[in-house]
Amino acid sequence: MSDFFCIADNPKEYHECFMQGLVKRNPGEPEFHQAASEVASTLLPYVFDHKKYIEAKILERLTEPDRVISFRVCWEDDKGDVRVNRGYRVQFNNSIGPYKGGLRFHPSVNQSVLKFLGFEQIFKNSLTTLPIGGGKGGSDFDPKGKSDREIMRFCQSFMTELYRHIGENTDVPAGDIGVGAKEVSYMFGQYKRLVNRFTGVLTGKGLEFGGSHIRTEATGYGLIYFTMNALEHNGDSLDGKVCLVSGSGNVAQYAAQKLMSLNAKVVAMSDSRGTLYMKNGLTVELLDQIRELKLNRQPLAKLENPGAEYREGQKPWGIEADFAFPCATQNEIDLSDAKALTENGCKGVFEGANMPCTNEAIEYFQEKELFFGPAKAANAGGVAISALEMSQNSMGMSWDAENVDSRLKQIMSDIHKTCVLYGEKNGRTCYLTGANIGGFVKVADAMLAYGIN
Ligand code: NDP
Repeated sequence: MSDFFCIADNPKEYHECFMQGLVKRNPGEPEFHQAASEVASTLLPYVFDHKKYIEAKILERLTEPDRVISFRVCWEDDKGDVRVNRGYRVQFNNSIGPYKGGLRFHPSVNQSVLKFLGFEQIFKNSLTTLPIGGGKGGSDFDPKGKSDREIMRFCQSFMTELYRHIGENTDVPAGDIGVGAKEVSYMFGQYKRLVNRFTGVLTGKGLEFGGSHIRTEATGYGLIYFTMNALEHNGDSLDGKVCLVSGSGNVAQYAAQKLMSLNAKVVAMSDSRGTLYMKNGLTVELLDQIRELKLNRQPLAKLENPGAEYREGQKPWGIEADFAFPCATQNEIDLSDAKALTENGCKGVFEGANMPCTNEAIEYFQEKELFFGPAKAANAGGVAISALEMSQNSMGMSWDAENVDSRLKQIMSDIHKTCVLYGEKNGRTCYLTGANIGGFVKVADAMLAYGIN
């Protein structure tokens, strides 16, 4: 065995050998190891039945990014002090379309986090049925506590380097944690200035300058549409169900809003410091207050409303509920959280965030036969509408909200069907297997068609 080469008679041995090589080639990248191991363990039985993928070493090639770009981002704060951050773009795989994936601004950003996100993005983007490859980027810059002008200067400096690596047919970034409409606008403005062209190089833009209706809502809404499909497929619904939503950012807000509109009761939302317990359920008034706080990057602890009890330092997973929607960040549900959820009667977990469940938590859910909707499928609505934003930009058109929402519903339903197609076994759907194989096949076949490269 060498780093890049495995020979094994069965998926289990291959997995071990493959992971040894991957860990050796990518030291100190635990999040990337975790994402690759999860995909390999579900894909390998399928790949062993389709030897062309083993022979062409598709898994080994798919886990090596096309390129990782890292760069210095220098900017000046309001006091006139010089600040330095690191920026990245991981261009992971463009076999089926231009690299596509968000930019994350958060102090926890490093190469490992962005490689796990970029790797998962390949499968997610393929599942949407749209022609987009996988990428991700960002910076360890923390927007919290920064003035608007500081954020603007940072975004402009970030784009002053990134612009040479992206383009509407090359790589099309979007938002993610810490990057919303405001940051996308600053970066788009700078890109436009540098290249002297108005082109759809970023998605999540304002409606006035090429943005798509429903893009802001798409990840949260899409998550709930996917959940509805999965529950309907199994003779259940969200009507009257008690739900936990973690996070209180973009994805969490719109997931919670859609759940409310479907008569589900959202009893918890959270942020990085604690959880809001809402015994009688989230209301429109409460959600508006949460939205306002988060727009100003304020903690939930500041919310004053008799309908909500703030629990400092706690996650939502100890609260009794039917369904859980982790919409904050990676690894927010570990094995002990998974046990607490299950013991409290939770019947399903649908991932709005990327990799919010550890591999041990996922195994536990599968052992206990909970519904499990993996991020690659369940949160693909955001990038799907980003791809529709790219289409609208290239056609010079803008579709109305109703049109885009109905396309989103259709895409989430198609993703669900793909998961069932590849994940159904003995009358039960394993959505994780379905999403991984369903996302893999198109990309792998394109890679085979290109020969060895
Ligand atoms: P936002 O920045 O809008 O919100 C992030 C939320 O997560 C905030 O409430 C934040 O709390 C909380 N959070 C961040 N870090 C932690 C932590 N370490 N522990 C607990 N809570 C934390 O981001 P988004 O809503 O856009 O993204 C959330 C997740 O969804 C991410 O995993 C992202 O990759 C994924 N995603 C996003 C898409 C999109 O379209 N935006 C598309 C697909 C996936 P606080 O307010 O205290 O910082």
